Amino acid sequence: MINEEKRLYSNASELLFYLAKEKAFEVKAPIDVDRIAKELGILVELDFSLDSRNIVGEIFFKDETPIVKINPLQNSYSPRRRFTLAHEIGHYCLHSAKSKQGFTDSKKAMSRSESYWDSYESEANNFAAQLLMPQDLILEEGEKLIESIKKTCEEKALLTTFVEGMADKFEVSSKAMEYRLRKLRIIE
Ligand SMILES: [Zn+2]
Repeated sequence: MINEEKRLYSNASELLFYLAKEKAFEVKAPIDVDRIAKELGILVELDFSLDSRNIVGEIFFKDETPIVKINPLQNSYSPRRRFTLAHEIGHYCLHSAKSKQGFTDSKKAMSRSESYWDSYESEANNFAAQLLMPQDLILEEGEKLIESIKKTCEEKALLTTFVEGMADKFEVSSKAMEYRLRKLRIIE
């Protein structure tokens, strides 16, 4: 793992706090991840040629400028693209802003189970989840949603409706939302 002093932001909530305070960034769902890239001076480009190398996304530096390339073929689903971008922002903030080290991500690197033993990749995945689904916002939106669906939804469909509703609200996949809600012990 990287030295703490080499990191630009030690976690996603620190980054969101900075953006809210200094850049008038509104922390609301869905999190505007493209604006975050912009505020950090990261250029985001689509690159179809990544597909032949089986790359989902990558970050590298050209002169001093951080550039994120996204494979449009493997990120056509908006929540997928948002997660890929948030993952690369994670590498930028945690691993490369100061060292100017680049990262290339295959599908395998970005999978939660496959990345478990790679600290850079699992850190970037955790950062992405925390950036797209900040704890306070999850609690706030979760309370609102549960109140409204409790009135109309049948008991047995409650959990699925809740997870899917939250996923829609935050523009993330249901799988990513379910994992986040379990991690925060909001659902069992
Ligand atoms: Zn990565």
